[in-house]
Amino acid sequence: MMFKYDYLVVGSGLFGSIFAHEMSKAYRKVLIIEKRNHIAGNIYTYELENINVHKYGPHIFHTNDKEVWDYLHRFAEFNRYTNSPVAIYKKELYNLPFNMNTFYQMWKIKTPNEAKNIIEKQKNMLKNPKNLEEQAIKLVGEDIYEKLIKGYTEKQWGKPCSELPPFIINRLPVRFTYDNNYFNDQYQGIPIGGYTKIIEKLLKNVEVKLNTNFFDNRENMEKLANKIVYTGMIDQFYDYCFGELEYRSLKFESETKNLENYQGNAVVNYTEAEIDYTRIIEHKHFENTKTSKTIITHEYPTKYKKGEEAYYPVNDDKNSKIWKKYNELAENEKNVIFGGRLAKYKYYDMWEVIKEALKVAEDELSNVR
Ligand code: FAD
Ligand code: UDP
Repeated sequence: MMFKYDYLVVGSGLFGSIFAHEMSKAYRKVLIIEKRNHIAGNIYTYELENINVHKYGPHIFHTNDKEVWDYLHRFAEFNRYTNSPVAIYKKELYNLPFNMNTFYQMWKIKTPNEAKNIIEKQKNMLKNPKNLEEQAIKLVGEDIYEKLIKGYTEKQWGKPCSELPPFIINRLPVRFTYDNNYFNDQYQGIPIGGYTKIIEKLLKNVEVKLNTNFFDNRENMEKLANKIVYTGMIDQFYDYCFGELEYRSLKFESETKNLENYQGNAVVNYTEAEIDYTRIIEHKHFENTKTSKTIITHEYPTKYKKGEEAYYPVNDDKNSKIWKKYNELAENEKNVIFGGRLAKYKYYDMWEVIKEALKVAEDELSNVR
């Protein structure tokens, strides 16, 4: 059977766009379909009041992988932004991630040994943490857990910390130095001019159809290409045959303020349970934009319902078991490739998605698959 395209890529996010770029560079015929009315998936940025707005939450690029960092530099120049969020708990303000500044603000101590002694006393002899609550207390003690982790995490995930996997809190560094850098990675920055420009460059020679949902016309879509590259939700692809996977969703409320500087930082987390949102983003600080107005976004975690946007996979035991069943089906597909955060059901950061897409493209071109 002759197909019009070599690849039909479902989704124009980072995975789909990198894959499509690599394939079109190698003269493969690619069509991308995208259900939203714009490209770039969750890294989409748009310009308003001369400010680049991160529509789907704050995106700070960071990696230790030099290949990925160099690859991305072909499509953008990066600034030297360092993410240093602050956390507000009731009337108190703390630096993140957990470091000597946080420990001073919490306990008025000044040396690493003093901080370590307090954490040692508060960690309750916890040896093998089985959930996020135990892991957090083991890492930073009861006080920090209660004020900076419990409320934020339970809002973010919609379940008690005692029911969440420990790995989620390991994303945050704990340091006994006065260093407010949120990431340990060697390379970090924001692409000057926003992320959408990167995707535009990647897709310069690729045919893209927006407002096109794969599931609205699946039968015909499947006849279009030799292979499908799918970056949407894996349970939906298999018509939920093993049950629904759990996701967490978000609601973003943005507003323009007639004010030069609203909060003095790009990211301010609100860690108490009583405030519904988890953070306020002030977009101009990502690129140090000089304008008289500012744009801020309140980010509210919400319950995911079928048909809405899924932002985070919930990688606990129950969902991991369901995912394994779907993944077994996926691994036996000959003409479908699954990639990215939703198809792999993994809490991937951007660099991991790029790495994965480059590897899959390389394997395709060398016929490993
Ligand atoms: P997506 O960007 O989700 O792209 C998938 C695309 O497929 C979407 O455009 C979707 O509309 C489309 N699609 C899905 N189903 C269909 C269908 N049926 N038909 C047609 N199209 C479909 N990473 C970092 O490294 N640093 C950060 O600071 C960071 N912050 C984040 C903050 C938030 C709030 C979130 C949610 C994520 C953050 N990430 C961050 C992670 C980052 O967004 C992802 O790693 C990356 O964008 C995933 O790319 P993707 O292509 O896998 O998925
Ligand atoms: N977290 C927290 N308090 C904070 C920030 C983060 O307890 O002020 C926890 C929370 O459980 C969150 C996890 O750390 O889900 C990982 O945070 P990260 O910033 O990596 O999440 P992202 O927004 O990138 O998904």
